Amino acid sequence: MFPFEREGLRARPLTAHADPEPDRRKAPADCKTCAALDPADLVLHTGERLAVIRPDGTNLPFVANIVSRTHEPLDDLDDDGHVELGRLIGRTYAALRALEGIGNVHVNKWENGTGHLSVTLLARPLGVLQLRGSNLAAWADMLPPTPGKELDARAAEVRAALATR
Ligand SMILES: [Zn+2]
Repeated sequence: MFPFEREGLRARPLTAHADPEPDRRKAPADCKTCAALDPADLVLHTGERLAVIRPDGTNLPFVANIVSRTHEPLDDLDDDGHVELGRLIGRTYAALRALEGIGNVHVNKWENGTGHLSVTLLARPLGVLQLRGSNLAAWADMLPPTPGKELDARAAEVRAALATR
């Protein structure tokens, strides 16, 4: 499962802690998630406060992001937003899991400090057990790109699955 040969590989030393941490939030005009909410082909579902989008390209069979429709972090979501988020995680997970050739789907919240809520769902190809677990994201950066036509076809299936309820 570990994506690298261990020989010669060593961990970097920890740097000094930042306390307080610097504010890394981006303005909406500089936010990639805000920009991704615009092109219709990248939007898979639009809900009350949240939407499901996909990246322009990926090296995995499919990736989806559950994001807020406005530029806000997960910290700002109220209880109704939490309910919608939970429902969309479950439904998007099921939609990706139902795609042909998917072995598992991993759910992650990184957000990387940009200030825009994003929960990332990563689909692992069926049978490729070397990619299982938390290193899937690291592997994803090193795999060949998935053809755009395959991603478009899977996006249509996910969009249809999310529209049924
Ligand atoms: Zn944003």
